[in-house]
Amino acid sequence: MLTEASEPNAKTGGRMDSELLKELMFQLTVTKAMLKTVELEQILYIILSGITHGDGLNFNRAVLLLAWDRRNELRVTQSAGPANGEEAHRIWEGVKAEKLDLQSLLDRYASQANIIQYLTSQLTGFSLNVNEARPMTSMTSPHYELHEVIAHCVATKLPFVINGTQATYYNHVSRETLTFKNFACVPIVLNDEVLGIILTDNFFNSRIIHDEELRGLNIMANLASIALERAMLYRKLSEMAKADGLTGVFNRQYYESYLQDEFIRARRLQRALSMIVFDIDFFKLCNDTYGHERGDQVLRQFAQILRDNTREGDMVARYGGEEFVVLLTGEHSPQDSWMVGEKLRQIVASTAFSEFTPGQITVSGGVSVVNPNEDFRHLFTRADQALYLAKRNGRNCVILYTAADENESALAEQAEQ
Ligand code: GH3
Ligand code: MG
Ligand code: MG
Repeated sequence: MLTEASEPNAKTGGRMDSELLKELMFQLTVTKAMLKTVELEQILYIILSGITHGDGLNFNRAVLLLAWDRRNELRVTQSAGPANGEEAHRIWEGVKAEKLDLQSLLDRYASQANIIQYLTSQLTGFSLNVNEARPMTSMTSPHYELHEVIAHCVATKLPFVINGTQATYYNHVSRETLTFKNFACVPIVLNDEVLGIILTDNFFNSRIIHDEELRGLNIMANLASIALERAMLYRKLSEMAKADGLTGVFNRQYYESYLQDEFIRARRLQRALSMIVFDIDFFKLCNDTYGHERGDQVLRQFAQILRDNTREGDMVARYGGEEFVVLLTGEHSPQDSWMVGEKLRQIVASTAFSEFTPGQITVSGGVSVVNPNEDFRHLFTRADQALYLAKRNGRNCVILYTAADENESALAEQAEQ
């Protein structure tokens, strides 16, 4: 039997005051958790705990499917539910003794990894495109496919309960069929967009789900949507803190900390690191002749060229002014690294920057590669030395650092003084 609730009933339905108090206490716990952390996973875990905890909504199992991170593809993010009845019994015995406060919930997060994992692993292959979700045509089916149930919830954006009937999902890897019995489906909606679904059931004790329980689930779904909104905002802000305001590539601060991490990783993996430093030629003249505004436009376009023509894992940062660095991922021979730099230089030299003809804007580059047994601080200083030589060499060229350059640039500097 299917029950659909457009607006969850706001009445308490004659429940005892203590029950209502418990529910309010729980909502307070979740809300507090949300204010305390921006760790989405922790908050979502608490929400799932609330749905399954005896002092919370008391469902046997709960699954959270989210689409927010994967461009409209709904997948299982977290779940709370034992694998079988015995395990369920053990857990229920255990949680009876527990207090429902924030700390004990958070502690449980760490200690119950296996319970969190079971349903998630059984549903790993499940995915659903939010844009293709359609409502079910028949609501009186004796059996449902999990896909159609979830799709129905996504398409209608409404919570519903199905009692007395099953929904199944066949896992092609484990060759097991996962069954949901007496279940409810609640959408997590933000700005009229379905970001996720809460699926919860009473598989072990077959308890009938009452309409009124949808209200509690809906509150949890609302809290989940607020948690998601906060996490998204937080992510956006931290992205902004990493980016250079003018060009959108990484800023120097982030580059420095990234480089530190890369150093450690490269040493652990015993891999070399490669870097290219670019500097725009005669940029001062460009500014003086055509104005700062057009200079800024050139910087933005150059940054875009670097982004468009490097690999996804390469890191492009604005080191300062009109100087940019590219840190190459993976191991590259010195010659290969030079080739990357040379390719980028050629692209710049043949690009018509806005209101310029090709060849008017050029760059010089210096390339260096350090081995894992060398001091990684050499990476930038050597690339910078090679850049210096490229400038001396007449600009619009890329030079690979070699040990001999160290002497040469030192001599050149002395000569200039
Ligand atoms: P070289 O070929 O030797 O590199 O000559 P250059 O003129 O590019 O070198 P210099 O270092 O003398 O000049 C860099 C110029 O970059 C000076 C500065 O006005 C300009 N610049 C630095 N940051 C910005 C910025 O954010 N916007 C604009 N438009 N110009 C900037
Ligand atoms: Mg410069
Ligand atoms: Mg310059």
